[in-house]
Amino acid sequence: MSLSQIACSIAESPTLRLNEEARLLKERGEPVIHLGIGEPKNKAPISAILSSAAKLSSGDVKYVPTDGLPSLKKAIIRYTEDHYNKIVGAGNIIVSEGAKQSLFNILFTLCNPQDEVIILAPYWVSYPEIVKMVGAIPVIITPEDGRFIPGINEIEQSISSYTKAIIINSPNNPSGQIFPDELLGRLVDLCEKKSIYLICDDIYHKLVFDGLVATPAYHYSNKDVENTRIIVVNGVAKSYGMTGFRIGWVVANKKMVEIMTNVQSQTTTCVSPVMQSAAEGALTGMQSIVESLRLSIQNNRDVLIQELQAFSDIRIVKPQGTFYALPDFRAYIRESVAKNSVDLSNFLLKKAMVVTVPGREFGMEGYLRISYAGSVKDIIEGIERMKWALDPNSPSEIYIGDRKLKRDWL
Ligand code: PMP
Repeated sequence: MSLSQIACSIAESPTLRLNEEARLLKERGEPVIHLGIGEPKNKAPISAILSSAAKLSSGDVKYVPTDGLPSLKKAIIRYTEDHYNKIVGAGNIIVSEGAKQSLFNILFTLCNPQDEVIILAPYWVSYPEIVKMVGAIPVIITPEDGRFIPGINEIEQSISSYTKAIIINSPNNPSGQIFPDELLGRLVDLCEKKSIYLICDDIYHKLVFDGLVATPAYHYSNKDVENTRIIVVNGVAKSYGMTGFRIGWVVANKKMVEIMTNVQSQTTTCVSPVMQSAAEGALTGMQSIVESLRLSIQNNRDVLIQELQAFSDIRIVKPQGTFYALPDFRAYIRESVAKNSVDLSNFLLKKAMVVTVPGREFGMEGYLRISYAGSVKDIIEGIERMKWALDPNSPSEIYIGDRKLKRDWL
């Protein structure tokens, strides 16, 4: 069979694969604890439910403009003013089927074959694959050992005449770290000086802890939205816990939005008005839901950090936002235990029934991504099971209800 080389080179999303594996194990009655999941457990905001229900029950669910419902775009304009202190117009916004499609649209619009896009490790799993899908080349920059943020010099040195864009994600999936203000300022300068786009994936920007703020890149540019090199991606999936509604958006200059709209008109026609109404309800409804979600996730983060202290040989940098942590498990990556983070994650799933995501998928071999988006109970039990499975002095068997787990490898 002769298939597209580009399509065949695209890896399956490892996080979605793990979700499916966990779901199948649960269906078989296995006591799985999912510390791999990338979504909060809260119900959608009532304002989102009512607004989408009203649209649905009107029965008037038809094609709508490709770039988004005017009323949702109005809400995004206000959001951009409130959270970014930036005045933008309807022509600067395109709504898509989740931030993932937004990123695809941006990269498809920017890149010619062989162009390069700089991705900073640790990175979200989909960035390199989307870059490859549009025929461009991902250039991965890895920070110095033990750090999660690359230096500006390493980034600058990797720029070539083919570089089209740098993608940043702050706070970061998977490390939970916020980019330092100084680095952000220098990145904005660098991109504007070299005419490179800075794609800011701000999907977690409201989920920050301890009074910290993820400063918007716009803060470091005095150019208006038409002239800046900054492109912002955001959505309702994480801040409002609305992952299944699939609404994301881009704020960019008018020309880019026009081209992205043409592209989207040939792939998606338009995003469902029912889901767009839900996003509009979330953005215009009571915002206290975001704060209560943020507080409960911050509490979960504290519980996770406390639990991980019982491991004497892993190193953890305390997350400043998101709902992920990326502890260093290299102490367990050795010949007799696990060859790499994929092995280790598989071992924890098979023996302890705990889902984690291997660091290799994020460009950080030796690490495991642990999500604390779930319940405190799951975090505590999940980490306890991991300790049991990895500690050579622990009993070789434990019971979870009447299910026996055996740790028979060490
Ligand atoms: N960016 C990052 C960093 C993410 O973690 C995710 C979701 N895991 C997305 C984008 C995609 O968001 P959406 O569900 O809106 O497509």
